[in-house]
Amino acid sequence: MNAPLIDPFQRAISYLRVSVTDRCDFRCVYCMAENMQFLPKKELLTLEELDRMCSTFIDLGVKKLRITGGEPLVRREIMTFFNAMGRHLDSGALDELTLTTNGSQLARFADQLYAAGVRRVNVSLDTLNEDKFARVTRWGRLPQVLKGIDAAQAAGLRVKINVVALKGFNEDEMFEIVDWCASRDMDLTFIEVMPMGDMGETDRIGQYWPLSDLRAHLAQRYTLTELTKRTGGPARYVRLEETGQDIGFITPLTHNFCESCNRVRLTCTGELYMCLGQEDMADLRAPLRASEDDRVLQEAIRAAISLKPKGHDFDYSRQDVQGQMSRHMSHTGG
Ligand code: SAM
Ligand code: SF4
Repeated sequence: MNAPLIDPFQRAISYLRVSVTDRCDFRCVYCMAENMQFLPKKELLTLEELDRMCSTFIDLGVKKLRITGGEPLVRREIMTFFNAMGRHLDSGALDELTLTTNGSQLARFADQLYAAGVRRVNVSLDTLNEDKFARVTRWGRLPQVLKGIDAAQAAGLRVKINVVALKGFNEDEMFEIVDWCASRDMDLTFIEVMPMGDMGETDRIGQYWPLSDLRAHLAQRYTLTELTKRTGGPARYVRLEETGQDIGFITPLTHNFCESCNRVRLTCTGELYMCLGQEDMADLRAPLRASEDDRVLQEAIRAAISLKPKGHDFDYSRQDVQGQMSRHMSHTGG
C-alpha cells in the first residue's frame, strides 16, 4: 500500500484538479485577454500521459479528480480520457470524477460523461441576459450554454452553477439567478474575482465585488442560515430558508480557507501547483517522461507535496492588487 500524500502542515492531499488544455472557445473578460497566446501543442501532455499522471496520483490516495481548463470539452478526444478515468471509479480507487465547464459543449457530451461515471458538473455562468453573456464571455452565446445545461440534467448529471460576482455587471441579477437555480434544482456557488493573469485593459479592482456585500444583498430578501458543512475546499455555505437552497461562497480575498486545503493542481503541461495563489510549482513532466517506472514519478510527486505552502497572499485591501499572479486562471484551472 502506498503511503498517502501528507503535506508539511499535516493536510492530506486527496483532491487533484487537472487542467487538460489552456485553450477555450470563450474569452471571459476576467479570465483571458482576447488575443491569448496558447501553448504549442507539443508542450501538452498527451492523453496517455495525463492518464498515467492521474492514475499515479490515485495510487497515492487521491480520491477526487476534477477536470478543468481552459475549456476541458474542447480538447480533442477528451472522452477517451474520461472513459479511462472511469476505470478508477469502477475499482473503487476514485470516489468522484467531475468537471468544470463553460457548458458550450455539454449538449454534445452530457450522455457520454454520464456513461464514463461523471455524476456532477460545475457550469460557469455569470448572467442570464443574452447580451451581457456575449459581453462577459466575448465569444460565448447563452442559448448554446442553456441547451448544454438542459442536456446535462436530462442525462442525469447534477448541475452546479458557478457565478463570478462582478461589480456593476451582475449585481442586479442575483435574485433572478438564485430563483432560476432553485426552479431547476441546481446548486449555486458565487466566486469572488481573483487577481489572475494580466487582462490588458480590464480594471480588476473595478471588477471586485466582495461576497460579504453580496450576502448582505441576499439577506434583504432571504433568511440566511450559516452552515458548518465544509468540503475541504474554499467554499462556505449558507442555506436560504425560503427556498431550501444551499449556496456556496468562494471568498479567497475576504476569508482565508487555506488551513483545510486538501488539493493540488496539475496543468496541461505537467506542472504541479501546490497552491493556486503562489508561483511555486514542480515540473512532473520530466520525471514522467524520464522513466517507465512509476516510482520515479511518485517520488517527484512526494517531493512536490513536501513543498506545499501554508497559504496564499491575495489581498485587495490596499489600493493596488497584492499577491497578483502572473499566470491566467486557464493555465492552472479554476
Ligand atoms: N472553462 C471552464 C469554465 O469556465 O468553467 C473551466 C475553466 S475556468 C478557468 C474555471 C472557473 O474559474 C470558472 O468558474 C471561471 O468563472 C473561474 N475564473 C476564471 N478566471 C477567474 C478569476 N480571475 N477570478 C475568479 N474566478 C475566475
Ligand atoms: Fe474559458 Fe472558462 Fe476562462 Fe471563460 S472562465 S475564458 S470559459 S476558461
